[in-house]
Amino acid sequence: MFEGLTALPADPILGLSAAYQADTNPKKIDLGVGVYKDEQGNTPVLKAVKQAEVEYHNRETSKVYIGPPGSAAANELLQALIFGADHAAVSAGRVRTIQTPGGCGSLRNAAELIKKANPSATVWVSDPTWANHIPLLGNAGLAIKTYPYYDHATKRVNFSAMMDTLKDVTKGDLVLLHGCCHNPCGADLSQDQWQAIAELALQNGFTPFIDMAYQGFGEGLDQDAYGIRLLADTVPEMIVSSSCSKNFGLYRERAGALSIMYASSADADKGQSNLFSLVRGMYSMPPNHGSAIVETILGSPNLTATWHKELAEMRERIKSLRALLNQKLQEKGAEGDFSFIERQSGMFSFLGINKEQVHSLVHDYSIYLVDSSRINIAGISLANVDYLAESIVAVLK
Ligand code: PMP
Repeated sequence: MFEGLTALPADPILGLSAAYQADTNPKKIDLGVGVYKDEQGNTPVLKAVKQAEVEYHNRETSKVYIGPPGSAAANELLQALIFGADHAAVSAGRVRTIQTPGGCGSLRNAAELIKKANPSATVWVSDPTWANHIPLLGNAGLAIKTYPYYDHATKRVNFSAMMDTLKDVTKGDLVLLHGCCHNPCGADLSQDQWQAIAELALQNGFTPFIDMAYQGFGEGLDQDAYGIRLLADTVPEMIVSSSCSKNFGLYRERAGALSIMYASSADADKGQSNLFSLVRGMYSMPPNHGSAIVETILGSPNLTATWHKELAEMRERIKSLRALLNQKLQEKGAEGDFSFIERQSGMFSFLGINKEQVHSLVHDYSIYLVDSSRINIAGISLANVDYLAESIVAVLK
């Protein structure tokens, strides 16, 4: 049965993690895997989550099946978090949300529904985009094309090139946009750029498809949802895949949601029935625990306040590390301008060094990052930033 299979290479990020674990250099730094880390390098369970788990444990009376959409209450709370309380499209019953196994499960469900609605749809993704977008969407059978996004020379979004490509995208196709904190490049769209994209989507009729994996990690929960809310005010239909992995720190619990804004509530009913059937055929129903914790937090003003505080701490830590790395690189005489690290947003930026320099950081300095030079800012700490900046300066020489 299986002898005909060919072994596939290991995921490069997981390989990097294993190499980091095995490294005995006390100065080693892990900037590879994209999870939030605190000053000690840990990814702790949030206090709000711990408290919600106790409350939920005491309240839970049954583990009976929950059904393909998951908890209706959790879905409603997530809609408010994403679209804002009382958004007109939500009140009109045009937005429907289902709970999914993480953001990945949401993206895959969306891809399956798109494939069913329009088998010849193309999804346009940014160049670069998060590597897993390709299999998550492509394995559902969708065609994928790229639009220019990050300009490695200016370290900004090449918006004119992006729009020049998107102007030819028409009805039936989709444009995948990162809601905030672009992974891997850290360069986000400005409010004016969101506006131009919303107008183009309306004019051309393509469907915006937003991946929101880091809400609250950029500027704040509402600020980070600016693009989504603007699109929801402008276009008739859109898809939002959201994840609670990072902002609630629920990674392995697999908590995410798929929210689709339909043109009418009749379309929404049809869409939901198709999604339920697709879900039944894939994993039947989503895991409960993570999303029950999110529901418990968002349903309690006290726990929400605790969560807001913890989320702000994570966000502020990332921002301050961005500023600090830029400052240290300048102090230590780095060749080139690294102010983009401070200007960019979320957990990731490309250092902008070449593959040989990356390999030197890994092999000569025990600083682990992927070949593209993407770094996880949260892997930096007050204790390691000097060594990191000195090592970058050394490999740049
Ligand atoms: N989209 C992007 C851009 C991501 O970076 C991630 C997490 N790395 C996800 C979606 C989905 O994450 P998860 O399935 O763990 O919720």
